[in-house]
Amino acid sequence: RLTRNDFQFIDVGRQDPQKKDARKRAREFGEIYEPYKPQEAASQSHRCLHCGNPYCEWKCPVHNYIPNWLQLVTEGNILEAAELSHKTNSLPEVCGRVCPQDRLCEGACTLNDGFGAVTIGSVEKYITDTAFAMGWRPDMSQVTWTDKKVAVIGAGPAGLGCADILVRNGVRPVVYDKYPEIGGLLTFGIPEFKLDKTVMERRRAVFEEMGIEFRLNVEVGKDIDFDTLLEEYDAVFLGMGTYKYMTGGFPGEDLPGVHKALDYLIANVNHCLGFEKDPADYVSLEGQKVVVLGGGDTAMDCNRTAIRQGAATVTCAYRRDEENMPGSKREVANAREEGVEFLFNRQPVAVVGEGKVEGVKVVRTRMGEPDENGRQRPEVVPGSEEILPADAVVIAFGFQPSPASWFDRVGIELDERGRVLAPEKGTYPFQTTNEKIFAGGDMVRGSDLVVTAVFEGREAGEGILDYLGV
Ligand code: FAD
Ligand code: SF4
Repeated sequence: RLTRNDFQFIDVGRQDPQKKDARKRAREFGEIYEPYKPQEAASQSHRCLHCGNPYCEWKCPVHNYIPNWLQLVTEGNILEAAELSHKTNSLPEVCGRVCPQDRLCEGACTLNDGFGAVTIGSVEKYITDTAFAMGWRPDMSQVTWTDKKVAVIGAGPAGLGCADILVRNGVRPVVYDKYPEIGGLLTFGIPEFKLDKTVMERRRAVFEEMGIEFRLNVEVGKDIDFDTLLEEYDAVFLGMGTYKYMTGGFPGEDLPGVHKALDYLIANVNHCLGFEKDPADYVSLEGQKVVVLGGGDTAMDCNRTAIRQGAATVTCAYRRDEENMPGSKREVANAREEGVEFLFNRQPVAVVGEGKVEGVKVVRTRMGEPDENGRQRPEVVPGSEEILPADAVVIAFGFQPSPASWFDRVGIELDERGRVLAPEKGTYPFQTTNEKIFAGGDMVRGSDLVVTAVFEGREAGEGILDYLGV
């Protein structure tokens, strides 16, 4: 029987965690959201309707047991909530911070229809952060160790998801990464104001305690031969991401003052973390008029990094309208609060300037018919050219697959777009065309999300266990 208690959502509205003041945020790189207090997490969790058909679970790519852990938080049972949330997700504290919840779990919440969705992401983050602070660690006491060995290439979310499944089932993974820290784009792409770097440091310590070995600063194909790994290990998982930078193909892209988005962000992270090899790599946009081109998460991160570096102005130009922007709505709102100006329906046609950037020539667009993916195509409005003044331009058009030169030699086939063929519904999930090699994350699906990479890594881990007969 329903009781007054089941209608908490009427008396208690959706309340996101407190955000730091926008002017303060614009001067520092730290995370912008304060953590929930226990009472806030409990009352927000209690808003869950337990609607019987949890659309949120279906929409969440890892199919988290959301209503169940919300219930445990309502009861103050954080350790059990952490156990449960780790059954489906290897990095819940990360996904809680960076998932675009508005188009995943929270977008599907029944209360999203007028009352305000349950703050699922913030509660997910709260559970793991609180449990770790209480000393909770994944329970490995029941694990029976096998003699199987698996190499994982890439310590991004896909590689970590795979390693997590393997180690919990008694297979010790050895994870290789060319970077000096784990996390892939979580550490070297996504800025600290979305994901504090200590989050991955803590996760690395937890994974190491569980039995995962990391061999960092090792580039496979350069510092160690892939064939050696193939010989020495019973199976190999590839979670190497996508890193081929997409250009606009218009004049002026080579002018001094034009920056590639990921290079710009990585240099900033290296500068902040002290990993910088050459100080000349760091790009400061302090005092400059900056134009960022693009409308996804990467563009949003560049906008907000430039603001924090002290740019005079930051303008983000995107060729579709706001409705059709691929970036998370929450991050667009945060960028706007911090002072980023958005120009929608502007398509760049050239970067202009004499010997250095002086502006970006754009044309106006209007939204036309949907393309093959159902997204409306931008159509150019004739005679609508204008120049946006700029001292610096950051190009954030996304990434294409970047297959390694040795894939062909070891029999790894690619699709027509260069993505590794590793079907979810194959004999073993995410097995490539070489039966000993599995793959997942951005290199299989193209640039996507942290949570989808975690999902594919975990599924591939299950596939490897079946393949090895564990
Ligand atoms: P990656 O994270 O790219 O990890 C691949 C790893 O493989 C890297 O560490 C790399 O060093 C290593 N590697 C590659 N080749 C070798 C080799 N030969 N030898 C050794 N190591 C190798 N997603 C979200 O959900 N929310 C966000 O807010 C968000 N923001 C983003 C912001 C930016 C700037 C970018 C670029 C992406 C963002 N994404 C976001 C997307 C998300 O980060 C990726 O989809 C996700 O990280 C992909 O995971 P992955 O494990 O497949 O690859
Ligand atoms: Fe939502 Fe992402 Fe957490 Fe799933 S993993 S519940 S989509 S925040």
